[in-house]
Amino acid sequence: MPWIPQGLREGIVTTRYPRRPDDYGPTFHGALGVEATSHVESGDIAAICPTGAISASKGVVTLDRGRCILCGLCVEARPDLFAFSPGFENSTHTRSQLVVPGDLDARDDQALATARRELRRRVKALRRSVHVRHIDAGSDGSEEWEVAALTNPIYDVQRLGIYFTASPKHADLLLVTGVGSAGMRQPLAHTYEVMPEPKVVIAAGTDAIGGGLVGSGYASAGGIGELVPVDVFVPGSPPSPFGLLHGILLALGLLGSGQGDESHRSSALRRGAAHGPTSPEDPPVEVGP
Ligand code: SF4
Repeated sequence: MPWIPQGLREGIVTTRYPRRPDDYGPTFHGALGVEATSHVESGDIAAICPTGAISASKGVVTLDRGRCILCGLCVEARPDLFAFSPGFENSTHTRSQLVVPGDLDARDDQALATARRELRRRVKALRRSVHVRHIDAGSDGSEEWEVAALTNPIYDVQRLGIYFTASPKHADLLLVTGVGSAGMRQPLAHTYEVMPEPKVVIAAGTDAIGGGLVGSGYASAGGIGELVPVDVFVPGSPPSPFGLLHGILLALGLLGSGQGDESHRSSALRRGAAHGPTSPEDPPVEVGP
């Protein structure tokens, strides 16, 4: 039984996140950043991107993380404008927060605070134990590997009171991957329908948020936001298990949202990974049974 000495040698491998920062987490290229002061004088910068995630208006460059598949083509072509951001805490409460550099005004801030308060009120009873139903609504399969990793000894989400369930009737939270393919529209709608309240929905991955490389068309809804109401958006193609965990904890009102906070309106290129609550409104992290 060689695994006994091996286990003793390696000790505890389970992450302490979110109670403590994890050294491994920030090594992921979780998102792409664009220099906040980026201006382009000429050339079609948007043409670099195969998914239409980049746009330029009056010379100002913006990037939609909800459409970015992290292919790196823009980093290769214009390293002066784009760079991978380390870290995984990139989930957001709203779709517009995924557009960087952010351009939220006071009204948006107020709407965001209201949305967060409302979600926190809805999920109050779920903070110590939550059952998650995962549904593949037309994924390429990459997200499923990351979702499956959540239950391995490294991430071990059961330690936080997070359990996967096969039945939507027992589920509090719906974790959806995939573009929202035509064949999955009905099953997705039915799954959402039979879930008990509060029916929290997470769009997991760029495909589920904006359709990814497939986009929208006769076979794809271009993201599941067209099919069910989404509470939290987890960008990435695929998002890492840490990114997914951050999204789940954000949906449960246990962590702050990375995007839209003041620090994230400045240069995304210089952004490092932030851990724990990032807003004065956020409660201290208290998870698990
Ligand atoms: S890394 Fe993202 S923004 Fe850049 S070209 Fe690829 S998909 Fe587009």
